[in-house]
This record gives sequence, structure tokens and C-alpha cells, in this order.
Amino acid sequence: MSKHSHVVIIGSGAAGLTSAIYAARANLSPVVITGQQPGGQLTITTDVENFPGFLHGVMGPELMEIMRGQAERFGTEIIDGSVADVDLEATPKRLTLDTGDVITADAVIVATGAKARLLDLSSEAHLMGYGVSACATCDGFFFGGKEIAVVGGGDSAMEEANFLTKFASKVTLVHRRSEFRASKIMQDRALANPKVDVLYNKAVEEVLGTRESGVTGLRLRDTETGEISEFPTQGLFLAIGHTPNTELFHGKLDMDADGYLITTPGTAKTRIPGVFAVGDVQDRVYRQAITAAGSGCMGALEAERWLTEQGI
Ligand code: NDP
Repeated sequence: MSKHSHVVIIGSGAAGLTSAIYAARANLSPVVITGQQPGGQLTITTDVENFPGFLHGVMGPELMEIMRGQAERFGTEIIDGSVADVDLEATPKRLTLDTGDVITADAVIVATGAKARLLDLSSEAHLMGYGVSACATCDGFFFGGKEIAVVGGGDSAMEEANFLTKFASKVTLVHRRSEFRASKIMQDRALANPKVDVLYNKAVEEVLGTRESGVTGLRLRDTETGEISEFPTQGLFLAIGHTPNTELFHGKLDMDADGYLITTPGTAKTRIPGVFAVGDVQDRVYRQAITAAGSGCMGALEAERWLTEQGI
């Protein structure tokens, strides 16, 4: 297959689908290529209670179904698949799918998102959603009155530990070194919280528990002495950073040291005219569904404006 579209959007999370809604309503007949996780990170969360417009909250997967339907209603074509290669300097821009099919586009919106960094333990994967979470904002509410642990030593870990004390009776920060990477002010805030405790020099070797019992504890290794211990806890939050999904763009688009795409401040523009980046792939700070959606809107409006300037 080989086809052409005015706008191709890579990614189908809140950013990509919002771009699609706006581009479709501008009669640009956009094509969305979903990527390996259609609907993006929201499809692995449960209740979303902070997305405006849903008085009683909405399930993440349902929200993404609604966005997808809304994009399709205005004429978006959605292709379930992944992009294997891109030539963004060509005119038109050229995207090769993992099936070998080629799609050309006048403008491309990159909305490939990010993924939470994980510890890569099989027990962590098994208990994800059963007491293990990578999103305090999404899941903290379910840990009311419980004793839980947060792994990490950066600003996210400090922020999440503090946030989680709204629900949990006790939050223990588990960090692999003897000092935090987090900024002083964030550390001070977390350490001043009477519900926050710290275990330094501890690496999580295994998450204990079953899907029936939920998390019951952590097997920890002391990173200085090698000593193994067990720490009882009822939940584990991972706050060890995020990784933007930008493998496809190495050497092709500008990115920072952590792989986040660089856009002109206040816009969705990348260094290549007609290529825009929206959502978590270019946002290391907010990473919320609503900011991703807002950014997706910006990208579509800018793409539309750029196409008009090109006489397309
Ligand atoms: P960071 O990369 O800053 O920190 C990650 C933390 O996780 C580090 O302490 C690191 O340990 C630890 N870690 C990484 N991998 C592992 C692993 N495999 N096992 C155990 N521990 C691990 O990520 P953050 O998400 O905290 O922050 C990202 C960016 O966002 C930063 O620039 C931060 O300043 C910013 N941010 C700002 C906030 C604010 O201002 N309110 C709030 C949240 C984030 P080690 O230190 O040993 O490397």
C-alpha cells in the first residue's frame, strides 16, 4: 500500500487523538497511526478523575475510546500499526510502516508519548495494577489508609511521596543511593512530612505478593553491604523517571539528553518545517492527559496554518 495524506499523526494517545480531532474538523482528512499501544498510557490506568468534563470520572480506556470515536466521526482514518522508519526531510514526508506499507504526508505530527521507566522485574510486571503503579496521580486514591513505598530519588519521587500522604498512612521512599538527586526544596518538603520515611541504599530486588493479596512487601538489597532484607508494604509506586518514545527520531529530530523532542518554546514546531511534536514526547514536566490534549490541539492548529502557508 502507498497512500498520501495532508497530515499524518504518529501516536494515538490523548495528544495524537486531539490533534486528529482538530485536523479532521479542518477538513485535512488526517491519518493516525496508532503505535503499539493504541490509546496510549491512559489505557493502562483505571479511573481518570482529573480530566475536565467527567463529573464522576471516566475509565482511562473508555476515555480513549471516546476520543478515538470523536476523531473518526470527523473523518480521521486510523491505522492500527507502527511506524518503522521516517524520512522527514523529504517532500512529501515519508513514513514506512512495520508492514512495509508507505504513507506520505505534507505535515507530520509526532505524538508518540512516553513510558514510565520500570525496574524490569517479573514480579513488578505481574503485580502492575495489583498494588504496583507508575502513576501516583492516577492511582494514589486507591491506597487510602495503607502503608506504601515509592522507589526513586528524583523530584518525581519527592513529589509523589508527598502527594501520596494525602491517602496513605505512611509513605517510605526507597532509594538506591545515600543521597537524593531531587532539588533541595523538593527534598526538604518530602523529608519534613511526618508521614514520609526514607530507606537509603536499597535496591528493590523483588515485589512480594500475589494478584489476590496485592503487594505485601519488597525484597531489598543493600547497595553498600549486599545484605538482603524484606520490607512489608501494601503498595509500590515507581518514580524512577520516564522515557520518551523517540527511538524512531534519533539523528532526525533534535532531542535533549534524555531523548525528549525539542520544540520551539510556546509552539509545537520541531526544527523541520511541517513536523510538529505534541504531548509527552516533548513534555518532561506536566505529563498529564489534559496537557497532552492541549498540546495536541496546538500541533494541529500549527500544522493547518503551515499547510495554508505552503498553499496546500
Ligand atoms: P530523574 O531522572 O530526575 O530521577 C530518577 C530517579 O530514579 C533517580 O533518583 C534515580 O536514581 C532513580 N532511578 C532511576 N532508575 C532506577 C532504577 N532502575 N532503580 C532504582 N532507582 C532508579 O526523574 P524524575 O522523574 O524524578 O524527574 C524528571 C525531570 O522532571 C527532572 O528534571 C525533574 O526535575 C523534573 N520534575 C520536576 C518537578 C517539579 O519541579 N515540581 C516534579 C517532578 C519532576 P539515581 O539518583 O541513583 O540515578
